[in-house]
Amino acid sequence: MAIMTEAPAERVAELNSAMQSSTATRTCCPFCGVGCGVIAIPAGKAEISISGDPAHPANYGQLCRKGLALGDTLGLSARLLHPMRRAEDGQFARVSWDSALDDVVNGFASIIDRHGPDAVAFYLSGQLLTEDYYVANKLMKGFIGSANVDTNSRLCMASAVAGHKRAFGADTVPGCYEDFDLAELVVLVGSNAAWCHPVLYQRIRARKSTNAKLVIVDPRRTATADGADLFLPIAPGTDQALFSGLLVHLALHDVLDTDYIARHTTGFDAVLADAKKSVPTIEATAQATGLARRDVAAFFALFAATPRVVTAFSQGVNQSGQGTDKVNAILNCHLATGRIGKPGAAPFSLTGQTNAMGGREVGGLANMLAAHMGFESENIERVQRFWRAPRMAVREGLKAVQMLQAVASGQIKALWIAGSNPAASLPEADRIREALRKLELLVISDNNQSTDTITSGAHILLPALAWGEKSGSVTNSERVISRQRAFLKAPGETRPDWGIFAEFGRRMGFDGFDYASAAEVFREHAHLSCFENNGKRDFDIGALADLSDAGYDTLAPTQWPARADETSGSRRFFAQGGFFTPDRKARFILPAPALGLCVSEAFPLRLNTGRSRDQWHTMTRTGLSARLARDVAEPVMDVCPEDGVDAGLVDGGFARVTTACGSCILRVRMTDRQTRGHLFVPIHWTDETASDARVGALVATWLDPVSGQPDLKTTPAKIKPVTFALQGLLLARAARYYVSRSLVDACGGRARGRLSSRGGRGFDCLA
Ligand code: SF4
Repeated sequence: MAIMTEAPAERVAELNSAMQSSTATRTCCPFCGVGCGVIAIPAGKAEISISGDPAHPANYGQLCRKGLALGDTLGLSARLLHPMRRAEDGQFARVSWDSALDDVVNGFASIIDRHGPDAVAFYLSGQLLTEDYYVANKLMKGFIGSANVDTNSRLCMASAVAGHKRAFGADTVPGCYEDFDLAELVVLVGSNAAWCHPVLYQRIRARKSTNAKLVIVDPRRTATADGADLFLPIAPGTDQALFSGLLVHLALHDVLDTDYIARHTTGFDAVLADAKKSVPTIEATAQATGLARRDVAAFFALFAATPRVVTAFSQGVNQSGQGTDKVNAILNCHLATGRIGKPGAAPFSLTGQTNAMGGREVGGLANMLAAHMGFESENIERVQRFWRAPRMAVREGLKAVQMLQAVASGQIKALWIAGSNPAASLPEADRIREALRKLELLVISDNNQSTDTITSGAHILLPALAWGEKSGSVTNSERVISRQRAFLKAPGETRPDWGIFAEFGRRMGFDGFDYASAAEVFREHAHLSCFENNGKRDFDIGALADLSDAGYDTLAPTQWPARADETSGSRRFFAQGGFFTPDRKARFILPAPALGLCVSEAFPLRLNTGRSRDQWHTMTRTGLSARLARDVAEPVMDVCPEDGVDAGLVDGGFARVTTACGSCILRVRMTDRQTRGHLFVPIHWTDETASDARVGALVATWLDPVSGQPDLKTTPAKIKPVTFALQGLLLARAARYYVSRSLVDACGGRARGRLSSRGGRGFDCLA
């Protein structure tokens, strides 16, 4: 796939013409943080033609397989179309919106009366639109009076946020995608971008074809590593040692930008002194990271010699018990060389979800207040005045895992989950299910009739609009705000998430929730971003604060900052300092030494979780596409041949993977992409799509102490073979993908376990 640095003029003209003359709609892909522009055109027979938007700056017309398959995911067979209430027999029955919302309002009000505002919580999603996030955040932090609103984005980029805030004083991504086009060296750390950010990866490949160098730092030899000039198979959890060693090397070889350090930063000497003690040489760095000396030397020499360098990092850095320190070790190297905010030079956080950034902008994280403001007293007072809020939260709320721990302990008694599936995706997912069942009130607004979370004791289900039906905005990894637009009618009784939260607010008796449209919510959000800002805060979209409804409808992709008083601002931050700390200087941060969950005789391997190329999260959407199931059709585990043979496994057979938290059965893939001692398991399968394959149940709880982000990469584990006498494959036309591996009585051949009751696409019948 070739990446265009600019869209071919004839293609733009052709599609612009289609946009004007037909019902074609410009929108944005709902999956990853690249944020590709999409054009959707009705193609007859209830089909939608999907193509990349050649005018969108994130993708210039390109789409990856997931984006191209979006048309497959629009069916209604698995959709939640009406409000539902769970009856005493455990079955859900349809109720009216009035009745469902009465239950939600009465339940929340009663619990707040009896136990206070911290007894309730919202758990949101990076799949929500910015407008959805904004209304939910305002409700909880300004009117209910608690900051217990967090999001599944906590699982993907909270450590990047925390690292940015520690170093820059704000959660600012300094660079933009154009930097990948201009860099002479791209370093990808803990990022399988070829699969997880495919269109941006192709842009990197295009740059590499012009002689730029690509270095991959990853414990796993991923598809991304295949295209690298240098692959560093680093020991898990030791990234901070690599970048501290790099800092020492840069100092020894006079590559530092001493003027930048002196004028725009503080804390450099102490951080360098500490790095010199822990990783003083290339040899020491190699020893600390498990890398070959020659590879470390080659990387250090390349980085030192290349001013135009982008270091991009993703889940392999963030999903770590020390993710924030890893982020800061990377930022330290860019600050020390002044390689920040300049064309082709920046540290770059690749966000996982389409609107992880938008959620951060409104304050969708429990430790952020709103519009990139934290819980400092002046910010609390400012936001309270802006919202005319009667009951402001005055301290940070509970972060995702802590929130569910508070549910388990009984501290939180009512939880509203919007567009997320924490019973499958949080660590110790079986314990999460148990915790959810204890709630007095579990409200779920979602697109789906059934998820692992819904079947964990939900009381009320509220049907929300899905992609293609909803309208609002999202922000991608390079701070570009794009419109997601509706091109389908709202099915059944579905409503926009922002509208559901606003109606809840009105019924709770709160003023300030009379929004008539997503545009009105967006304008308020934009006004807050510039309210008493005056350049003190990075997030400012004041130029969009007075958009008309028509202007909102036609809003082209817009990068922030978009200040009202600037006609053309810089696309980048910090080339000339101007950080958002009190003294406007960046902070060098001392990373702690690498730790790690210990393997043992009982659990001698390390379990790493991640994504498959063609699936997204818990497959609630991509599971509807048959073509996306072709790559990996069932739950699998990757293991190196030596470990596999030692454990008695056979390639293509089955293994039971067990940790201290749970176990499941997975198909074995022996591959030399895995290093000895490490397993890799894709995260996607749940009880809704497979039997006995809940990977979240395997993952131990180890939280980064700064960001609260869980480590999803290093759980101690063991494997053993599972041998079956019989396997079968059933192919059927069905609404939903399902893999069942049920035990069958070897003598009589009768099924003892459950085969698919969901009309599965295929199953293995095991005896
Ligand atoms: S790269 Fe990401 S945003 Fe672009 S089409 Fe693929 S999944 Fe969608």
